[in-house]
Amino acid sequence: MLDAIIKGGTVVTPQGAAVMDLAIQDGKIAALSHPGLLTDDAARVIDASGKIVLPGGIEPHTHIGIPVPERWAGHPEVFTQPPEAATRAAAFGGVTTLLDFSGSLPNSPEEIASNDSIMNQLESRKQAFLGHSYTDFAYHHILAGEVSPKTIGEIGEAVQAGQASFKIFTTFAGRVPYGHLQAIFQEVGKQGGIMAVHAEDDDMVTYMEEKLKREGRDQGYNLHLVHSNISEDVSFRKVIRMAEHAEVGIYFVHVTAKEGVVAVGEARSRGLPVYGEALHNYLEFTCDDYRKPNGTKIHTYPAIKYASDRDTLKLGLEDGRISTTATDEYTTYKDVKFWGKTIESVCGGHNGIETRVPVSFTKFVSQGGMSLTRFADVIATNAAKILGLYPQKGVIAPGSDADLVLIDPSVRKTLTLDDLHADSDYSIWEGFECEGYPVMTMLRGKVMVENGVLQGSSYDGRWLKRKVAPGALARPVC
Ligand SMILES: [Zn+2]
Repeated sequence: MLDAIIKGGTVVTPQGAAVMDLAIQDGKIAALSHPGLLTDDAARVIDASGKIVLPGGIEPHTHIGIPVPERWAGHPEVFTQPPEAATRAAAFGGVTTLLDFSGSLPNSPEEIASNDSIMNQLESRKQAFLGHSYTDFAYHHILAGEVSPKTIGEIGEAVQAGQASFKIFTTFAGRVPYGHLQAIFQEVGKQGGIMAVHAEDDDMVTYMEEKLKREGRDQGYNLHLVHSNISEDVSFRKVIRMAEHAEVGIYFVHVTAKEGVVAVGEARSRGLPVYGEALHNYLEFTCDDYRKPNGTKIHTYPAIKYASDRDTLKLGLEDGRISTTATDEYTTYKDVKFWGKTIESVCGGHNGIETRVPVSFTKFVSQGGMSLTRFADVIATNAAKILGLYPQKGVIAPGSDADLVLIDPSVRKTLTLDDLHADSDYSIWEGFECEGYPVMTMLRGKVMVENGVLQGSSYDGRWLKRKVAPGALARPVC
């Protein structure tokens, strides 16, 4: 007897979207068939008529249960929401896998990043999530500051253990100097890992911070003048050039400017394994919105820019230059998120993990006419391919994990806080009109959320061992 059959839904596979039945056994997709051909001999038969059956959302960029810097929070001992709350919200929003971070980022140049081994830091992050997660999870490992030869020597062991991606910043206190960065790129490339890069030009950022402070223009609504278009242009091109020399794949987190989209597109057209991510708040808002009351609540670093940048990001997701959507999930309460008012004190990140899939569905599918196959790519499949989870995750195919989200395209919902499940008291999406919404989320064959009711357990989420396919590191595959 099968564990479950999902009947009559529009099932989205790499080959297209069609009405099919889907059989689930032992947490995996066992079979896909034309409607009516599967036996009804299953523990549960789910009628998905009128629904769209997609691979469960993969959220490639979250910051869960970590300390918020005092300069952003106004006081010490503040943390972003814990795994239990963040992954619960994720499950309600159709997400079945997320990538957070291991290792830590120093909050000042004086504060030295942990000297503990990569494997120990990874283990302690795993322990923070195990037993507290409604989604599967993995981590990009952060390398910060002047990374020691000892740490660089540990990268190979970590990749072998399934730790496929490493994160660096080219600005902020944890900035990696370019010499060290080249050494990291070479080693990660050699070991078959991939780099997740937060790229900004630190000299330009620092110069503009000082200039705006000197001129009395350091209000938060000027953040886009600090974290600027030209900074993204210059830093993306520098990182791409270094990566080309080191023969390493690059995943640019939060592409924010049209210049970034163009730089990624040019690198890809030269055959380089370069991938870009767009955050869903950057697909809606512009820097004009910063000027509204508490307008910097929409802010996530680097900075939300102009309408032409927003429109180019959307175009990039449609034409393939940008590969993934993400949130930079970093949920606090509004006393923290709304506290900082200057270019140095506005809190980064936002309460977003639950809204990415429905907001993207509304914008791209319901309103934008994007194909369902491309939609699956940008919410799940591409992240799985780039970050080493494919085909276990991110695709509806026999043998893959039965991670699914069912979207009802007929649901019309104006988002209010009551619709959301984070440990927070604000959402930048209050008032957003969703056209289509997740109605069921399934993790490895187990129903986690059904019709707005939590069914899963926080013991269900597992850490995922990852390995990026060599092809995805040789040329752009998605
Ligand atoms: Zn981030």
